[in-house]
Amino acid sequence: MRNHTAIVVDCPTGERILLDAASGNTVLRHGQALGMSPTDFDHCLLSHSHPDHCEGLPHIEMQRGRRNPAEQPMQLYGSERALADIGTLLALPTRGLAVDADGAVRRDGRRSITFRPTDPGDWVQLTPGVRARCTEVNHIGGALAWRVESGGHAVVFSGDTRWCPELAELAQGATLLIHEAFCTDEDRSRADNVAHATAAEAGRIAQMAGVGSLTLTHIDNAFHADTEPLAAEARSVYGGPVAVAEDCWQQRV
Ligand SMILES: [Zn+2]
Ligand SMILES: [Zn+2]
Repeated sequence: MRNHTAIVVDCPTGERILLDAASGNTVLRHGQALGMSPTDFDHCLLSHSHPDHCEGLPHIEMQRGRRNPAEQPMQLYGSERALADIGTLLALPTRGLAVDADGAVRRDGRRSITFRPTDPGDWVQLTPGVRARCTEVNHIGGALAWRVESGGHAVVFSGDTRWCPELAELAQGATLLIHEAFCTDEDRSRADNVAHATAAEAGRIAQMAGVGSLTLTHIDNAFHADTEPLAAEARSVYGGPVAVAEDCWQQRV
């Protein structure tokens, strides 16, 4: 999506990994249109706890329980700080969840979310065929970028961040880099003020990392009608293919 971020990675080994959960019921509504069920999302990697990235989680949690009460808990990976914020989000009394340090438990006593605090640099084995690693980025405290590897492919998601050269290390040789691009370099100070990056900065990271392709996301409203200036700017510094995501965007790598 262009604004409120949720990305689904369909791995070659069959798993479906959710990167962020957007706000409201966007994941459920768009997921349904794309043939995805909330019960598909056993693993969620969280970039940070700004509402546009995580407020959809309680809706996904509720629908997972309705569709399949015996469902295994969703494994939620993120920084300690982000998971603490998610605990607050889930603990609203009307949700009927008991929240503890390990996650959330439903009224029937079943655990529905397990918190998996993750330190930057550590590899996390999500399933036998899928592993992930994160690095801290330059947005708010505890904000992370993620690299997901499966079947010889690597997808890297910047999360929200200002210019962050550490991302080039995380994204080294990746099949696909999904990088936020708030605006063009002309408005660089505006992007910096709100802790976001420009399309040129996203392109530079893609070039430094030597990724196979770059997809820009999380773009400012001013560019929704015409995204070409963003793509053109990224292409001016990165030699590979550049795309700009939109709602329900699907990309095969
Ligand atoms: Zn943010
Ligand atoms: Zn955001």
